[in-house]
Amino acid sequence: MLRPSAARLSHFLPAGILFLGGLAAAYVKDLSVFFTSLFNVLPTLVLLLGGAYCAVYRRQRELALMVTVYIAYYLLDTQTDFYRDNGVVREDAAVVFHLMCLLLPLMFGLYAAWEERTHLFQDLVARLAVLLLVAGVALGLEQSYPVEVQNWLADIRWPLLHGSWMSLIQLSYVMFLIAFGVLTWQYLNKPRPLHAAQLVGLLGLFWALPKTFILPFTLNIMCSQVMLMIAAAVAQEAYQMAFRDELTGLPGRRALNERLQRLGRNYVLAMSDVDHFKKFNDTHGHDVGDQVLRLVASKLSKISQGGGKAYRYGGEEFAIVFSGKTLEECMPHLEMVRETIANYQIQLRNPDNRPEDDQQGRLRRGSAQAGSVSVTISIGVADRQPEQRTADEVLKVADQALYAAKGAGRNCVVAHGQPQKRSMRTADAI
Ligand code: GH3
Ligand code: MG
Ligand code: MG
Repeated sequence: MLRPSAARLSHFLPAGILFLGGLAAAYVKDLSVFFTSLFNVLPTLVLLLGGAYCAVYRRQRELALMVTVYIAYYLLDTQTDFYRDNGVVREDAAVVFHLMCLLLPLMFGLYAAWEERTHLFQDLVARLAVLLLVAGVALGLEQSYPVEVQNWLADIRWPLLHGSWMSLIQLSYVMFLIAFGVLTWQYLNKPRPLHAAQLVGLLGLFWALPKTFILPFTLNIMCSQVMLMIAAAVAQEAYQMAFRDELTGLPGRRALNERLQRLGRNYVLAMSDVDHFKKFNDTHGHDVGDQVLRLVASKLSKISQGGGKAYRYGGEEFAIVFSGKTLEECMPHLEMVRETIANYQIQLRNPDNRPEDDQQGRLRRGSAQAGSVSVTISIGVADRQPEQRTADEVLKVADQALYAAKGAGRNCVVAHGQPQKRSMRTADAI
């Protein structure tokens, strides 16, 4: 049975590009006045715009992450500005830097792993309280015994684990390691763009911190990039929400409508519908019905090998778009997907009867045993005719062909105007 969601490269793509962009920009030498001024205001600009964006979407966790990154940036930037202007570091530079190396991964990891509660105001207050508490302790330490605190922080606690490449305090590596561990676990548990962006963002901070006083503008650039990664992930998730169907993971009706506007002159549209699905739901329950819809969607998505793209049209209906293809080219692929679905024995998900591994799962499916079910789909397909002006007209014709397929006994593919293309029924499961 299909896994609900899985790790995807696309989750890491926007954050990865921003990270690489940050690396490249940080190594550019001899910046023009334009870029120096830009990098000076960039973090504040990104915080204001990104923060407003997160606030509009009521994303407290992301807002808190941005504020954390910005505070760390601000405190360290004050130090680097002093260093740049005077050629020497400020008196409290070491203790501030060490504290940031410790607190930034701690707060970033904490806020990232701290899921939003339902009551948004309470959530915001709780996050703010933690921030104030940590800031208060940090300020207290920084003010009272700087040298002692600095020595305590700089102390190498595990000499055996200390490498010459470690330019941050040893405790900072422990913090980063814990934060990476927690965020990786979170991503594997719930793979989504935001969790991926948090991981890449943490990597960005880990890369930037040791270069704070060495590479000019590293901090400005990487902190801006990390805040942008978070904002981009919020945007990516909002896009997915609008255009992806949550149950099946296929693009939804809105995405289909957009695609239909942008088709060229030659294309083929197919409408498919699960046969007797109402009866299936009544017999096996709505949950099993949902599992079956996911399975049908995953098999339909394989139509991409034939140049098609599947969309969930609504309910148990799916539309398939073949751009730049002829009916003859599409038919074999539609036939194949119909047959694959009809031949697939779906193991009913029973927690006590789960296969222990993939091989066992395959074996069980092979031996059509009780507890397995199957469904069939009917498909109606139409290619665009010169007199048809819009894709909606073609879709309507495909829908009529679908009705014809239902009338012809279901579990078959019927092409509009070509009833001879109708396939032989191989099975009628219900
Ligand atoms: P036909 O072969 O003529 O298509 O018969 P049918 O029973 O499939 O047709 P009908 O359109 O009457 O039934 C569609 C059913 O699909 C009704 C509804 O219960 C079910 N359905 C629609 N969306 C979902 C969904 O998201 N999950 C589940 N489990 N069922 C759904
Ligand atoms: Mg229907
Ligand atoms: Mg149906």
